[in-house]
Amino acid sequence: GRRPLVAGNWKMNGDLKLASAMQSALQDADLTDLDVVVCPPFPFLASFDSDKFALGAQDLSHFESGAHTGEVAAGMLREVGCQYVIVGHSERRTDQQESNELVAEKVAAALGAELTPILCVGEPLPVREAGDELHYVSAQLDAVVTRVGAPQLSKMVIAYEPIWAIGTGNTATPEQAQDVHAHIRRHLSKANAEAAAGLRILYGGSVNADNAVQLFAQPDVDGGLIGGASLKKDDFLAICQAA
Ligand code: 13P
Repeated sequence: GRRPLVAGNWKMNGDLKLASAMQSALQDADLTDLDVVVCPPFPFLASFDSDKFALGAQDLSHFESGAHTGEVAAGMLREVGCQYVIVGHSERRTDQQESNELVAEKVAAALGAELTPILCVGEPLPVREAGDELHYVSAQLDAVVTRVGAPQLSKMVIAYEPIWAIGTGNTATPEQAQDVHAHIRRHLSKANAEAAAGLRILYGGSVNADNAVQLFAQPDVDGGLIGGASLKKDDFLAICQAA
């Protein structure tokens, strides 16, 4: 069986006070049967210190070091305790025009520093309305597999986040999530069957304490990538308990 994983993506929210409250709440919780990852903004990363949950960044540079003002390197994330890094979130693909090719470079940089990339894929509404979501997601995955090679799939986590479900309250139904997750696993199994079978595929998009149980009950939904609800410790803990 695949070990469930729940990751909280704070996006550009929170402060040191929330970091400290979340640290204590998670440290006191029973998190034995899943992996929990907290992904706060860069400035708060070093304030966490835990053996109960892991730390992740929300982005990284594809460069290793050097004259790249404002960028943060994979090795720096390792030094402040990160084990994971979100790569290719749809908000960065949109706001920072990150292409499939740049996302693939960032996954390579993460793997090079032994960070586990949480690679985000997912279609915008017009693509869903055209019934083209499986092709769209396959192309996003292929760009990365072509760049890093199929053996690396065993060191990655995938998050399926349909853009129309993010921050809208319009959660994918458990069936919609399962359909795409099963497709992702089937598609990647053509490149590396063993890695695809063990790969954790998270669902993201308006997950809350009420809908998490049904989503996580789907056979190919191995946990969640949580935005808004990861900022409230009771909600986030309830979602972790659902996994
Ligand atoms: P919400 O849970 O706020 O919809 O955000 C999902 C997301 O984008 C997590 O990365």
